[in-house]
Amino acid sequence: MKPDLDPAGRSGSIYIHIPFCQSKCAYCAFNSYPAHHFDINGYLKALEKEIAAMAVHPLIRQKKFSTLFIGGGTPTIYPGKQLGRLILSCLKLYHFTERPEISVETNPNQISLETLNSLKKAGANRLSIGIQSFADPLLKRLGRTHTAGEGLKAIALARKAGFDNINLDLMYGLPGQNVRNWQQTLETTLATGPEHLAIYELMVEKNSAFGTLAAANKLELPQEDTIVHMEKLTLQFLQSAGFIRYEIANYARPGYECEHNINYWKNGTYLGLGAGAVSGLNNMRISHVLDPDQYRLLITNDKPPFAGAECLSREARFRETVIMGLRMTGGIDMADLESRFGLSPSDYYGPILKNFIDRDLLEISGDHLRLTERSLPVANQVLSELV
Ligand code: SF4
Repeated sequence: MKPDLDPAGRSGSIYIHIPFCQSKCAYCAFNSYPAHHFDINGYLKALEKEIAAMAVHPLIRQKKFSTLFIGGGTPTIYPGKQLGRLILSCLKLYHFTERPEISVETNPNQISLETLNSLKKAGANRLSIGIQSFADPLLKRLGRTHTAGEGLKAIALARKAGFDNINLDLMYGLPGQNVRNWQQTLETTLATGPEHLAIYELMVEKNSAFGTLAAANKLELPQEDTIVHMEKLTLQFLQSAGFIRYEIANYARPGYECEHNINYWKNGTYLGLGAGAVSGLNNMRISHVLDPDQYRLLITNDKPPFAGAECLSREARFRETVIMGLRMTGGIDMADLESRFGLSPSDYYGPILKNFIDRDLLEISGDHLRLTERSLPVANQVLSELV
């Protein structure tokens, strides 16, 4: 089969992982570590070396990128000047489209006007702030190290630095949360005027402090009907404020959808750099070692920092593209799928797909296959049957 490196002529994405935070949140199972345990300057040097090395890799050097995302962890654990240098070297070494989307993640108490100014100057044009809640007792329960007031201050600073595309991350279904205080968080959020919101239900992960508490039966979460109520309220509030739900958990004002994540959901090309980052290049999935020290030492000793590589079959890549694409409320373009993989969902899934359509869990609209309003709240169950 013809290589699928550049599906439908689309440009790709670059993700840079900064695995350090001030401390570990109680719910967190991401590849992140308290910064004081690590040589974070040594990590940055290794990262710079990998950025330069991958830019001349035969799979990469011809590729055009349209997004750069520096995530974590908490990237702004580094001074703005260092992060700015990282952005500038990516812009210099890789081929980018004319106006790439450049996002940086941050947390409310790990940000200063100086850092924001440096990021802006280097070309960052989108900021993603981990607010999670505007209720102090809940933030404390989550192990967050900032207050609601610091959240508001961070948003104001970002505006002052000239960021006009701000995402706020929020969570619901938290221990001690009820519909009333979730409503207050939504009201405060909307009053700050964000362009984009990523709103996730708390998932209790085994390898997190909450996972340990849950295993000992010591974590009390809101009841299922409360969660459903919170979800309805979210949709109602955001729709009436002019947001479009364009993915299961992501809402944007028109024109502010996150291009970087859309590329993932369309299963485009992505280059991951840094500890634990994953690349999707052609049909290859290449993952980095998780441990930041191991990553730093491998690179310092001129060894590849990879943990594994997998070559996906055409069918596996097709299924992955269907599942990821259905996360977007617009669904998947079936003609695009056919041209990329030579497969169509109805031929491939046959009776399973028909059954979902008959039960009003999937629908075909024009050329697109998508989840229905009825299946959005149970999307993960539907998607798991298409794996
Ligand atoms: S700030 Fe984010 S990445 Fe860091 S520990 Fe908390 S949830 Fe994890």
